[in-house]
Amino acid sequence: MTTTAPAGLDFSIPPHLQPILERVRAFVTQDALPAEQRIADPADVLASWDVVEALRDRARERGIYTPHLPEQWGGLGVGVLGMALISQECGASPLASLGLNAMAPDEGNMHTLLIAGDEGQLETWLRPLAEGRTRSCFAMTEPDVASSDPTNLGTTAVRDGDEWVLNGRKWCITGADGAAFAIVVAKTDDDATKGHRNYSLIIVPTDTPGWRIVRHPQWLGSDVPGGHPEIALQDVRVPIGNLLGGEGEGFAIAQRRLAGGRLAHAMRWIGVAQRALDLSAKRLLERRAFGKELARHQGLQFMLADSAMDLYASRLMVLHTAWKVEHGMPHRQEVAMTKTFVSEAFGRIADRAVQMHGAAGIAMDLPIAGIYADARAARIYDGASEVHRMVMAREVLKLAAAGESTRQACGDVG
Ligand SMILES: Cc1cc2nc3c(=O)[nH]c(=O)nc-3n(C[C@H](O)[C@H](O)[C@H](O)COP(=O)(O)OP(=O)(O)OC[C@H]3O[C@@H](n4cnc5c(N)ncnc54)[C@H](O)[C@@H]3O)c2cc1C
Repeated sequence: MTTTAPAGLDFSIPPHLQPILERVRAFVTQDALPAEQRIADPADVLASWDVVEALRDRARERGIYTPHLPEQWGGLGVGVLGMALISQECGASPLASLGLNAMAPDEGNMHTLLIAGDEGQLETWLRPLAEGRTRSCFAMTEPDVASSDPTNLGTTAVRDGDEWVLNGRKWCITGADGAAFAIVVAKTDDDATKGHRNYSLIIVPTDTPGWRIVRHPQWLGSDVPGGHPEIALQDVRVPIGNLLGGEGEGFAIAQRRLAGGRLAHAMRWIGVAQRALDLSAKRLLERRAFGKELARHQGLQFMLADSAMDLYASRLMVLHTAWKVEHGMPHRQEVAMTKTFVSEAFGRIADRAVQMHGAAGIAMDLPIAGIYADARAARIYDGASEVHRMVMAREVLKLAAAGESTRQACGDVG
């Protein structure tokens, strides 16, 4: 990590990303958005998977398939900033990132495999995932413990000869139904002094005896392929070679994949929030109350203005944080602040959009209600707001305790 900032803050889109973003924009408007009509039931995209396959063919033709992967894996190697900007475009349609094969949790799992996988693991698990022949899931959260403190996790993996034997229960595991494999966070040691270093990542093929989907809870927000089911692991045996990275390195590896993932999520939320504001402004211009357009009532104008400010601040935070990541500068604090601020701004913007739409804001067959429901979950996954605030406050206090200004913990811009 370098500590000195490269000269000049430049908020223009780097020239090499411009043509890619134009192709992604065309893909979203000409391919993904029209394809939404061909999904028979939005709550069951898997039943219309041929539509997703066709979108992937279009993405390949446009040269934008798996943009997050390095070129030798069929991608574009666009980096953190590139992926954030692509995600912003994808926010306009839930099919867009599926069509690029760049959706959670597969995108994050591809990065995790690249970070920690050996050659055999990459061929066995990454190759089919990158080519879109399989899906995957990441299994950390457990129903019985507060999983925002990872040292609570109870699923164990015990060595028995040449195998790991896993036992435990997971839930809210995105994409698990129909996934070919899971990257499971499991306790491989029980040393109180080691904390999160007791945990490892283990690849579990989902056809292994003992892996079972217990139930499919209904969650607030739109459904994703494979849902977010609850999983039981009972005496699940996998080869020793399915350990991903070193023993005890589970959370260190997970941390390395998180910065890019959180910024991509944040930019996707910005894309969705922008759509909510666009729809709101259009509606206010179309409807009249008390003798004039809704758009001419100051109370509603203030809502538009507040959402515009939220979007501006959100975009700047993502761009600045991505800039820090790409220049190898410290960025943990900035990622925490950005993830938290943008997820909460998304909620505020969605809420105002509901209000500006009146009854149309809560009609489940119109877009705003779905956006509102999706926005609520953003404050919980990928680190809940409170946990990120804990991390942020720790940085502020560390500097204050050292008798220094806390500026460095506040984005350290300029
Ligand atoms: C849409 C969605 C998709 C998800 N996908 C996955 C997935 O694919 N794989 C997976 O493993 N998990 C997934 N999750 C689960 C998610 O990672 C967890 O919900 C999250 O980590 C919080 O854990 P928990 O639900 O156990 O909450 P808990 O740990 O029980 O926390 C409850 C509340 O207490 C707060 N809290 C905790 N500590 C403190 C503190 N010190 N001070 C103040 N407040 C605190 C938390 O912020 C939270 O608001 C997903 C969640 C959602 C909503």
